[in-house]
Amino acid sequence: NLQMGDQSPSHSDYSSGVDSANYFQQCKYIHEVELVNMKLQMRILETHLETKDRLLRNLEDIIDEQETRIANMEDFIQGRTAAYTPSTVMLHGISALSLDFGSLSEENLRLKDALRAGQRKERINELMEADEDYESDMTSVSGECDSARNGTGDLMSQSAIVASKARAFIDEHQISRLKRCAEELKNEKDELKRLSQDMKDAFTVCMGEVKLLLESKTVDFFKVLMERYKAEMERRRTLHNQLVELNGNIRVFYRIRPLLSTRDQAAIRIDSMDEGVVHLEHSSGRKTSRAADFVIPTKFSQNEIFEKVSPIVTSSIDGYNVCIFAYGHTGSGKTYTMEGPSDDPGINQRAILQLFEASQERGNDIEYSIKLSMIEIYNDKIRDLLSISSSTSSSLTLRRDEDGHLSIPGLECRPVTSPSDVKSLLKEGSISRVTASTDANANSSRSHVIVRVHVHAKNNVTGTTTIGRLNLVDLAGSERVSQTNATGQLLKEAQAINKSLSELGNVVFALRQGQKHVPFRNCVLTRLLEDSLQGDSKTLVLVHVSPEESHVCESISSINFAEKIGQVQMKGAAAFKRAESVRKSTRVGGKEGSSPQTTPKKTNK
Ligand code: ADP
Ligand code: MG
Repeated sequence: NLQMGDQSPSHSDYSSGVDSANYFQQCKYIHEVELVNMKLQMRILETHLETKDRLLRNLEDIIDEQETRIANMEDFIQGRTAAYTPSTVMLHGISALSLDFGSLSEENLRLKDALRAGQRKERINELMEADEDYESDMTSVSGECDSARNGTGDLMSQSAIVASKARAFIDEHQISRLKRCAEELKNEKDELKRLSQDMKDAFTVCMGEVKLLLESKTVDFFKVLMERYKAEMERRRTLHNQLVELNGNIRVFYRIRPLLSTRDQAAIRIDSMDEGVVHLEHSSGRKTSRAADFVIPTKFSQNEIFEKVSPIVTSSIDGYNVCIFAYGHTGSGKTYTMEGPSDDPGINQRAILQLFEASQERGNDIEYSIKLSMIEIYNDKIRDLLSISSSTSSSLTLRRDEDGHLSIPGLECRPVTSPSDVKSLLKEGSISRVTASTDANANSSRSHVIVRVHVHAKNNVTGTTTIGRLNLVDLAGSERVSQTNATGQLLKEAQAINKSLSELGNVVFALRQGQKHVPFRNCVLTRLLEDSLQGDSKTLVLVHVSPEESHVCESISSINFAEKIGQVQMKGAAAFKRAESVRKSTRVGGKEGSSPQTTPKKTNK
């Protein structure tokens, strides 16, 4: 147990810095010793306290034990007899123990207070020790500082000046560095700008070159494509044309209508072995056989007949001119073939509807416009069947325009855009024809009717335009004048009809013969059809004959007409076939073909 007051060195004993350091060191030791001392005291107190606590706990255990015993005793006593009285000695002992316990508890509390006081004192000592360390440090430092302060005063002011100068210098240096950086950045920015401009220029030049290259390549590519497309289109057109030409540009078909009455006998029949030959039996018993390109079987429906006709109808969509004539005497079935009954229409309606279908099938590349006009030629006069103002008296005239094409100024030419348009227009023209013939007091079969379809095709890809004309002609009855016993108006009619029909025969004959001069100008019918008959035009003559015996003379007349125009100059396969048949017939002795009256003459079948 160190006595602090005895051994503490006096502050004044130390005059130098070293002594004061020793002094502080010693103080520190003393405090440490005090601290250890305190800690030891506290430990003793704690041990004391623990002993007391232990004693207390023992005492508590004893009391608990005694109390348990008492409780047991009480139970025992209560259980035995209420007469027994509690032992006064036992009670006295218990109260004495309780007193001891009370005094022990008090002592325990005192010890706890002493412990708390000791802890407080220890804390105060710690704080004091820290204060003293600080004070002593401060004293020594302040001493040192005082001595240094005098020497460094000047230096401080000088260094402040130097520092401010240095700061100024650093600032200037920084600014100039920043300026240099800014300058460099500006230069780099300019350089980048120049670079981007160069790149832009290079890109523009490059793009221009690519564009030019692409344009030239695309143009070339499209040129090639276009040429190929044109070539293909032309090829298809040529092939179709060749197909039609192989059958002959001018063809003759026979149509024998069925007997209208079961009482009648058929005087005409188709050869059972050869569908291109018909046999006629005169009332006198004489027999005549004739050949045509094709003899339509009697059982053929309107549709089957149209299928035979449709290839040349298709030619009109390719820009060719096409003529289909219905020839024959009155009642032979011409109007039936061309117009047909409303529930089973004839060639006119089917042909125009086919043009619609074909134009739709060929897609969007080709724009088609189909127009229709209906013309009647009566007594060599042209009448417009679609004009509302038309009457028997007003007739139109044929004109040749500047580019050499024949036209009929004032003729109605109506566009048709749907099948219903076609039907209603054809009906309108048909009604107009019947009304006019009634007005003129004439039979409707005494005039020629031409349904003219204009097919205008514009190819949006190639830019080419073609115009095809399809003429569907229901000719006037071909009966001979002598048999009609006509006079006056009727005679005039008959003469006009006969002339026009024979001129038509002359024209077709001349065309088939390939003659240089074709007499188109001799009548209105041939003049009107001039454009549609020459050149690459396709012509089909459907010669109608009645099967009845009573019509044999008319039928023979029609067959003669067919034979006249059948004198052909054949082309392609037909010519080859013909040459073959000639060679064969020569080999077998030239029997066939020796008599034109009796032997079928196969034309360009
Ligand atoms: P054309 O026009 O040559 O004077 P039509 O066409 O008016 O002759 O026919 C005369 C009659 O013969 C009509 O009653 C018509 O219905 C009938 N006819 C013509 N051809 C046929 C045919 N193929 N099938 C049934 N009847 C027909
Ligand atoms: Mg008729």
